[in-house]
Amino acid sequence: GLSGRLGDVLEKLRGKGSITQDDVNAAMREVRIALLEADVALPVVKDFVNTVKERAVGQEVIKSVTPGQMVIKIVHDALVEMLSGRIGSQVEDEEDDAEARKRDRVAESLNLNATPPVPILMVGLQGSGKTTTSAKIGLRLKSAMRKKVLMASLDVQRPAAQHQLAVLGEQTGVDTLPIIMGQQPVQIARRALDEGRKGGYDVVILDTAGRLAIDEELMEEVAEVRKVTNPAETLLVTDAMIGQDAVTVATEFNDKVGISGIVLTRVDGDARGGAALSMRAITGRPIKLMGVGEKMDALEEFQADRIAGRILGMGDVVSLVEKAAQSIQMDEAEKIARRMEKGKFDLEDLLSQLRQVRRMGDIKGLLGLMPGVAKMKKQIDAANIDDSMIKRQEAVILSMTLRERRHPEIIKASRKKRIAAGAGTTVPEVNKLLKQHQQMAMMMKKMKKMGGMKGMAERMG
Ligand code: GDP
Ligand code: MG
Repeated sequence: GLSGRLGDVLEKLRGKGSITQDDVNAAMREVRIALLEADVALPVVKDFVNTVKERAVGQEVIKSVTPGQMVIKIVHDALVEMLSGRIGSQVEDEEDDAEARKRDRVAESLNLNATPPVPILMVGLQGSGKTTTSAKIGLRLKSAMRKKVLMASLDVQRPAAQHQLAVLGEQTGVDTLPIIMGQQPVQIARRALDEGRKGGYDVVILDTAGRLAIDEELMEEVAEVRKVTNPAETLLVTDAMIGQDAVTVATEFNDKVGISGIVLTRVDGDARGGAALSMRAITGRPIKLMGVGEKMDALEEFQADRIAGRILGMGDVVSLVEKAAQSIQMDEAEKIARRMEKGKFDLEDLLSQLRQVRRMGDIKGLLGLMPGVAKMKKQIDAANIDDSMIKRQEAVILSMTLRERRHPEIIKASRKKRIAAGAGTTVPEVNKLLKQHQQMAMMMKKMKKMGGMKGMAERMG
């Protein structure tokens, strides 16, 4: 069985045991209210709460937080996951090289994979921010990606609408299609694409007219424009303050026009932003961008964690749990680092490392916490470690006795056979793990000679 150091570590991680059904029910009452107050649609709240309930029961509670706090953190992570459509969003956040920061996430959120001029269609209710966002996108594509962009207003509803886009075009230095009064939206769209081809434009942004509420005429008009122009992106622009109407608006536009993504505007306001969750859940379309002000540069890549935090409104609890989890990882990382500095690295150390890697879902996370190791990240990336492989390796070590783990050199043929059988694998797999451990242990010894982790990192840098 498990004993000694490893046992202590597991005990620490387990903290108050695991989350019970009662813990979940109690915390979920709060979560439900929070989501409804944030204007998340009721059916979406119900679905979400049920999914998370199932996921939370039985999970471990880490030291120094309550089961209720743990549930809130699980809810938060599930929210981020759902809003982003990705699992393990913190992996993405780890990507903090200067390179990644320099890249333009706004421009990269858009799909421009089509023959130029690539049409982008902006749709949504009146006042949602379509015209403003069109110009913001135009400016960004021009400045960050050096795209040649043409914008055209198809809004023949309001006399001043086409003029509004022309003014924004001048302000941002993005070309706009000359206005010809009396043309209908489809005609204007065709003319824009024509002009786009002739003028050698990369992208043509089509800004449509909205209405105060959904109506058939609007839907038909926009659907027709979409059919004629075949856009690479059809972006539904909605105001973060839209509230419960989000469901109808998103459903209608998605069913009758077809959308490829959502832009959430007025995120700079104080709406909790529950509409984002509703729209994401109902349409299954990604929220790509968010507007964070009236200025032309106030456009950002959608940040799921930021919106999740606002929707749930329990940021204090979430960061408390994150800090607690981090300090445990830190303790453990330091322990391993201390042993490594001594040049010691047995199979128990390897096991404990494998577990940590798996728990954090990302080896970069662990290494990032260790002093002086950040520079090794690239090599670790290249090693391409996956979860199922780690689980298989864990199983092999778990089939060994403590003595075998501490003194791998005693593991000869018959022991290997027993271990392989116990782990449901083959002797070559056991050999592979032992060899890998040998190499790591050897590296540790070398590192000790070179003056420990810090010395080594400095040499490599
Ligand atoms: P449209 O009718 O959908 O074309 O909406 P407009 O683009 O004309 O925007 C309506 C109003 O919302 C304008 O006053 C914009 O300046 C404002 N607006 C648009 N996006 C944002 C945003 O992200 N934040 C803030 N604070 N205001 C915005
Ligand atoms: Mg407009």
